[in-house]
Amino acid sequence: MTDKTHQILGLTAATAGFFALHPEADLTSAAAGTILFGAFFGSLMPDIDQPTSHFWDSVPLGRYVGRLAPQALGGHRNLSHSMLGYFLFVWLAGWVVTTFIRPDTFLDHALFLESFKIGFIAHLAADAVTVQGIPIFWPLGPNLGIPPWPLQGLRIVTGKWFENLVVFPVSVVALGLVLVTHTDRLCALAPLVCR
Ligand SMILES: [Zn+2]
Repeated sequence: MTDKTHQILGLTAATAGFFALHPEADLTSAAAGTILFGAFFGSLMPDIDQPTSHFWDSVPLGRYVGRLAPQALGGHRNLSHSMLGYFLFVWLAGWVVTTFIRPDTFLDHALFLESFKIGFIAHLAADAVTVQGIPIFWPLGPNLGIPPWPLQGLRIVTGKWFENLVVFPVSVVALGLVLVTHTDRLCALAPLVCR
C-alpha cells in the first residue's frame, strides 16, 4: 500500500480505537492532535525501510538518513514489517516520547503510544493483503499474506486501481462514519455537531 492509504487507514483505526478504548472520554483538540500525531508516525514507520517513504520527509535530516536506513534494515519488507519489528519500534517510540516530550504538553504519552501501535498494526494488516505479503515472523519463514495460498490471486497490487478507487475512498468514508456515529463525544472539538 502507498503512504496516503496507510495514513488514512491508521488514522481511521486509531480514532475508532480511541472511542472503543476510552468510552468515557471526549475527543478534545489535544486528544485529536495526539491521535493524529501517533497514527501518522505509527502508520508510516514500517516503511522507513523505503527511501521514498514520506516518513523521511517529516524528520530532521530524513533525506540523508532515509538513504542509509533501508540498507541497515535489510531492504523493503523485512524487520519493520514483522512482529519483532513491532515490539522494537513501539519500545523505541515510547523511549523517544518519554525522553524528549515533556508530560505537561498537549501530547498525552499513553494516547500517543496507543495511536502509534494501532497505526503500526493497521499498516502491517494492510500490507498483508497485498500480493507481496509481509514477513510477520521475520527473520524466520517466508512472507505471508491474506488470503493465503491458493487464493493469493485475490490480494491487492500496491498503488493500483483497487487501492486507489476502493481501499482509499472506503477508508475516508469509514473515518467519517466513525466520527458521525460518535457525535456525542465531539462536544469539546465541534460543539455544533455535538448532541
Ligand atoms: Zn509497508
